[in-house]
Amino acid sequence: MSNNQFDLADRIAVVTGGGGVLGSSISKSLLEAGVKVVILDIRQEALDAKIADLKDAGEVIGLVCNVLDRDSLKNVRQQILDKWGRIDILVNAAGGNMPGATLTEEQTVFDMKFEDFNKVNDLNLNGTVYPSIVFGEAMARQGKGSIINISSMATYSAITRVPGYSVAKTGVNIFTQWMAMEMAIQFDEKIRVNAIAPGFFIGDQNRAVLINPDGSYTERSKKVIARTPMKRFGDITELNGIVQFLCSDSASFITGTIIPVDGGFSAFSGV
Ligand code: NAD
Repeated sequence: MSNNQFDLADRIAVVTGGGGVLGSSISKSLLEAGVKVVILDIRQEALDAKIADLKDAGEVIGLVCNVLDRDSLKNVRQQILDKWGRIDILVNAAGGNMPGATLTEEQTVFDMKFEDFNKVNDLNLNGTVYPSIVFGEAMARQGKGSIINISSMATYSAITRVPGYSVAKTGVNIFTQWMAMEMAIQFDEKIRVNAIAPGFFIGDQNRAVLINPDGSYTERSKKVIARTPMKRFGDITELNGIVQFLCSDSASFITGTIIPVDGGFSAFSGV
């Protein structure tokens, strides 16, 4: 057995939203660290494309699963336990904002669409809570595990025009702290729950509001960069180190934290 505290070889990870930008990048880095990875996504075509990309990096399978459907989650939990016998790591990367849940420049607070507000809340909050409970139960039975949630800069101070997403991700923060506390008290201190809070990364969901069709920065982008001491957007591979660290035994006394990966955005008052 390796005495390298960062060693993750042969652990079993589940990455929800693994067909997406962040989930697939995190999956690739886990595979390269020797982890066996199950990517879950609601979209079969996204899974097929990512499995084709990831299969040379290590042992990976893709399963269709809706993170808002507890039967679907329990079904894949059973399939994973039948195949590999345990679940060591859960990365809750299914989520994101939705166009209808973002106010346009012309809209006021009173134009908020409740249906979209509820949808974005459901996906980002319950889409983290349900998998954490279903896969966390398997971790509790085996006495060890690490859960990593994805928070956001929208939880430190208010960001214009994104009410539902901000509320949901703030819910993810307190859920992270609550579950970390309960898992340590009720079961074993070896089950840890943490979150990472990415700063601004160009992804499929926010590209249109950050980058103009000609490739230049939008006015919103310029504001983000002005508030980011490192003066740039993040590269999604810059999330990999913290995820690997939090999954590993080197983080054995770290639970209930929300760690920003943001080029200093959350530390800066703007003055
Ligand atoms: P993405 O849209 O590329 O990936 C999300 C994936 O989740 C998609 O493949 C989608 O099919 C899947 N999904 C949606 N609903 C689902 C459901 N009900 N069940 C299962 N899968 C479902 O988004 P991303 O940019 O990779 O973001 C991943 C996470 O990181 C999200 O929580 C997002 O809010 C967060 N985040 C992203 C950024 C960024 O800059 N990209 C910044 C901060 C936080």
